[in-house]
Order: sequence, then structure tokens, then C-alpha cells
Amino acid sequence: MKDLTPRREDLDPIEIASRDEITALQLKRMKWSLAHAYNNVPHYKASFDAAGVHPDDVTCLADLARFPFTMKQDLRANYPFGMFAVPRSDVSRVHASSGTTGQPTVVGYTKNDISTWADVMARTMRAAGTRPGDLVHVAYGYGLFTGGLGAHYGAERLGCTVVPVSGGMTPRQVTLIEDFQASTIMVTPSYALSILDEYRAQGRDPRESPLQVGIFGAEPWTNSMRTEIEAAFDMHAIDIFGLSEVMGPGVAGECVETKDGLHIWEDHFYPEIINPQTGEVLPDGELGELVITSLTKEAFPIIRYRTRDLTRLLPGTARSMRRMEKITGRTDDMMILRGVNVFPTQIEEQLLKVDGLTPHFQIRLDCNGRLDTMTVLCEAKEDAASDDARGMAMADLGKRIKQMVGVTVKIEVAQPGGVARSEGKAVRIVDNRPKK
Ligand code: ADP
Repeated sequence: MKDLTPRREDLDPIEIASRDEITALQLKRMKWSLAHAYNNVPHYKASFDAAGVHPDDVTCLADLARFPFTMKQDLRANYPFGMFAVPRSDVSRVHASSGTTGQPTVVGYTKNDISTWADVMARTMRAAGTRPGDLVHVAYGYGLFTGGLGAHYGAERLGCTVVPVSGGMTPRQVTLIEDFQASTIMVTPSYALSILDEYRAQGRDPRESPLQVGIFGAEPWTNSMRTEIEAAFDMHAIDIFGLSEVMGPGVAGECVETKDGLHIWEDHFYPEIINPQTGEVLPDGELGELVITSLTKEAFPIIRYRTRDLTRLLPGTARSMRRMEKITGRTDDMMILRGVNVFPTQIEEQLLKVDGLTPHFQIRLDCNGRLDTMTVLCEAKEDAASDDARGMAMADLGKRIKQMVGVTVKIEVAQPGGVARSEGKAVRIVDNRPKK
């Protein structure tokens, strides 16, 4: 893999500014953002008043902890445009989350917001090793989902050639990457695996592909998966994080020179980590739920949004801004099996250690009498599909999960191609338990 570390002089000065400078900018912007939300969004006025706090009370960043959280329900209750802080006619675009778990949450952007988003996306891509002039293949879905258009505008802002492919039609993805000689791909890690399969199905060597950088996000993935994808494609695999409620992709991203967690673009997004049970703010370094406050957004300011994503804050390395560790999972994806908390990422980590298994997997939850059971559905590689080889892989994985995660699970090893493929965000958990 090539050294793609960006030149220091090409970074935004704030990325490498002193902590004092960053803090001063954050405080100024935080006061603006709180006042903007309070003065223009009835929900924030009511919730701040009910908590007995006012934007003028803020004298340091820690004062933010006195303000109430914003939850997904708050956004749903104000569907569709009730959380907008500018007249609808000043909103130049809306996006929405998928809404599979209920009413979709709608978010809006002014022209300035779209421009800020393009800036932070361009910054994220530069940190990943993409350079002006590169050809960028965007396989995130285009539409109401923020992935496709977010990546698109960032790539244009950085000065790249963008190929807006969107998800799906996997054979064509490979053809276009090869014919157009894409050097960066932006896609969910699970769909990257489907594209990898397709390379092999077409008899092409993925290590000979023109790709040098993969920018992967929208779902949790592990460092073991990074190793797998980097080896398969001979390219850098970089993590990118974001969510529609806060902006979309580009809230945080990894640097290609360190790959040690995601630097949060703290000049626009203020992170806190809380204990999800008590709501108490935890010190940097402790694992908890990520809470984000926007500092510059006009159309849709968001104050102390509970992301439900579990991670910890770490000091900056390649940049001055703080990092978040790779996400363990969402609180809603946490499965509790006989008292032990289990996340799909823990299963992924063990699965990738077993010879003879592909990286595709799904977890099925059933209720057997009074006990919940978990079954890991995985699949054999072509050269390990015999009954004996599958039996060995099953035993090996079961043992590793028991030892490392602490739970006993059932394992089913399907023939190659037997696990459902993803074209966007992977569905990791199939829950067959009766609804309570
Ligand atoms: P939703 O999935 O709720 O419809 P989004 O499409 O905006 O909303 O997705 C945002 C969510 O996707 C995040 O809150 C997080 O759970 C997940 N996500 C995004 N990027 C990453 C990443 N790099 N690692 C882990 N999870 C991620």
C-alpha cells in the first residue's frame, strides 16, 4: 500500500491548531448554536425552559451538561419540519433516516449547511488519503439516505472526479471501478465484501484493482475486518462516521497515517460521552453513549443528541481534535444472552479468526421455551465447504465465542453464498422472538 499521508500544508489550519484555540472556537460557536436553537425552535425553548437553563448561562464548555438531551422521539414528535430553525423556504435540501423502526426523522440544510457538510466531507476524504484529481466511486445509496449525496459533495469539494453509482447491480460496480480506474471507493464495509466476492466471481484479482483507498462507514465494523479487506484489495481501509440527525457522513473520520480511531471534527460537532443509564457525563477514555451537539448548523441545530452509539473519547494523534474509538455497536443492537451483553462486532471479531469461513454473517435470535437462544449463521469458503471442514469451522467458532465473548451460541455454517448479501447497511440481527 502506498503512503498517502496528506501534506501538512494541505490541512485546514484548525485540524492542527492548539487545544486552546479549538476550545475557544467551540465555546463561541456553542453559545451561538444554543441561542439559535432556543430562539427559533419551539421544542428547544420549551425543553430548556423546563430544565431551567438558558443559553446565556454558558460560560464554559462543561456547562453544556446542564442542558437537556434530544432524543429520536423528539424529532419524531416534531415530524416533519418542526425542528427547523429557519423558514422552510430557506431550506435548500431535506434528508431522512430510513424509518424502518417507525416514522422517519427528517433533517434540513441551508445552502451554508450543505457547504459546511461538503467541507467536512472533503476533510474526511483527504484524511483518508484521497487527493484532488482522484477518481471516486460512490457506492453509498443516493436519495433520502445521507450517504450518497454526502460523499458526492465532499468528493467534488476536494476536487475529485465523482462517479455517482449508488448501491446495487454488483457486477456493474466491478466493471465501472475497472473501466474508469477508480482509486477511492466509498461504500458500506458489508457491501465492499459483496463487491469483493464479485471480483472473484468474475475471475479478477482484487489485489490488481486500481483501488487505493476505501472509505467505509454507516455501520459498525472491526479492526479485524479492516485487516481482511486491506489484504484482499491491497488498499487502505478507512473508517468514517456520521448520522443524518447530526449532518450525515463526515462527522468524524480516520487518518490514513494512523488508523487509530476517528478524529471528530470538533470545530463543527461537540462530543460528549454519557452513561446511557444515568445520563451522567463520563470523562474522556470511558466507554459510553456518544452525544453530539452541532456548533454551526443553521437549518437543523441539534443539541445534545443521544446517538445510541457506544464508544469512548481519546486524545488527538494525527490531528489536534479528539478521536472516538471505533464504535462497538448501538445500544439497540446490544443483545443480552443469559446476563451477558453481546454486540455483533464481537461475533465478527471471532468469526474472522476462523479459517474456512467467509466474512459474511447474520445473527438469529429465537426464544426456546423461556430461554433466548442465539444462532450465528455463517458460510464456508469455496475450498472449505466439505462436511468435515464446515464441522471444524463450527466447532472452532463456537469455542472462540464461548472463550472470548462468554456466551454459548449455536452455529450454522452454510455452503458458499448461503448468507444474505448486503447492498447497503447489513442486517446483522434477525430477531424471531415474540414481541414483548
Ligand atoms: P439510521 O441508521 O438511524 O437510519 P443514519 O442512516 O443516519 O440513520 O445512520 C447513522 C448511524 O449509522 C449511526 O448512528 C451509527 O449507528 C451508524 N454508523 C454510521 N457510521 C458508522 C461507523 N463508521 N461505525 C459504526 N456505526 C456507524
